[in-house]
This record gives sequence, structure tokens and C-alpha cells, in this order.
Amino acid sequence: MSHIPLQKGIIYGPVSSKRLGRSLGINLLPRGQKVCTFNCVYCFYGKTISVDSSDFPSPSQVVEALENSLNRVGEIDYITFAGNGEPTLHPCFDEVVSAVVEVRNKFRPKIPLALLSNASRTAEERVRRALKMLDLPVLKLDSGDEETFEKINRPLIPLKVSEIIENLSQLKGEIKKLVVQTVAVCGALTNTQDKCVTKWIHALKKIDPYQVQLYTLDNPFDSLNITPCPFSSLERIVALARKEAIPVTLYI
Ligand code: SF4
Repeated sequence: MSHIPLQKGIIYGPVSSKRLGRSLGINLLPRGQKVCTFNCVYCFYGKTISVDSSDFPSPSQVVEALENSLNRVGEIDYITFAGNGEPTLHPCFDEVVSAVVEVRNKFRPKIPLALLSNASRTAEERVRRALKMLDLPVLKLDSGDEETFEKINRPLIPLKVSEIIENLSQLKGEIKKLVVQTVAVCGALTNTQDKCVTKWIHALKKIDPYQVQLYTLDNPFDSLNITPCPFSSLERIVALARKEAIPVTLYI
């Protein structure tokens, strides 16, 4: 699979998303530069070069770009913070989310605000404040054990998956709809072996999310010898999770 180009502006799309329908994207990361705390094996933006930047858009730039876009764009299902890496790395993330909520309320009051995040910053108060303002914060958890986390998400900062699980479990009751997203990976590296799935389910029981969104890769990554998981493997994970009352939805 070849990587997709990085976003060159603050607003992009609408893009068609299996999980979010027609989604207008907000990129809070620098234009044309990937900034993330992870370097996931399956990242369609390619290798992470930087975990920080001094080139984030200001809240007023985000507001102006969103207002312009909402004046032109047609029907949408979601407005989504995503873009070139990890949105919560924006140093004023809570301020930006608050400003975007106001724009949404003025221009499209019925359209929910979503976030796609790797959950690496959920210990920070400014991030937790922002999560409470969102309609659908979708937070990554690809594994419940440190070894799989290191191999698949390849964190670039000192961070254990146990810390993420603890942070997410503390969000329970604090935010409207805590959604967990999990990418199932197969091939030379996988998080679908029984021992991995058991630990992932154990983590989810602790987090107690509103929904778990399970999906797999769209294409193989030949360079790493990883592939989309077969439907039978995904179905087995869903069955195991539902047996433990985990509200998992499979997106294929
Ligand atoms: S967290 Fe998202 S943006 Fe960051 S490396 Fe992983 S897939 Fe890419």
C-alpha cells in the first residue's frame, strides 16, 4: 500500500468514512507535516517524523477556516478533529474545541463533533476538558498488553498502555459517549491472537466504553508483511467481546 498525502490545510473533505459517514475534517496539525506521539505500523500517513511542532494553527485561524467551509459545504454527518497526526497535541486543544463548538452551534447545530485520537494525552487536564465538550470522542486502543502496544503503535514518548487504560477508565461518566477504536492487524505482526484478545477484553471491561469500533486495514502493507484480517478472525473477536458484554461494532 502507498501512503496518502498529508493534509495541506486546516479543513479538508468531506471524506466518506465507514464509521462517520460524510465527515468534514479539521486538521489542527501543521500543514503537510505529520506530528504524532505514535508511529503505528498501519498509519496511512507514513512514518512519524516529529512528536511536536511550533507551527500549529491558532484558534482564530481554525474558526475562520471552518466558517468559510461551512458556508460552502453541503450535507455532512460529522465535523471531525483528525488530520495529520494526533489532534490533542495542539497546545490550546481545549480552547480550539470550545471555539469550534460555538461555530458548530451557529452554523450547523445538529451536526455532532467527533475526534479521532490515539488517547496518548488523556492524562492532561486540557485534553480531558476538551473531551467533555465533544459529542463523539473516539480513542484508540489496539491492545491491552504492553508488548503488542509497543509492536503495533510504536509510541515515540515514554508511555505504557496500562496508563492509557487507566486514563480512559477514569473518563467513564465524565464524557457523553466514550468510544474506543481498535484496528485489527494480521500477518507478521498481529493483535488477534487469543492471548492479545483476552487482555484487550480485560482492558475494555475496565474502561466500560459506550461503543467499541473494530475494523481492519483496507490494504496490506507489503513492506511490513502485515495484512487486513479475514472476516472469520474479526467475527471471532466480536463474539469473544460480546460474550463479556463489550458493546463492539464491526466496520468492514
Ligand atoms: S496514532 Fe494515528 S496518526 Fe498517529 S501514527 Fe497511529 S495511525 Fe498514524
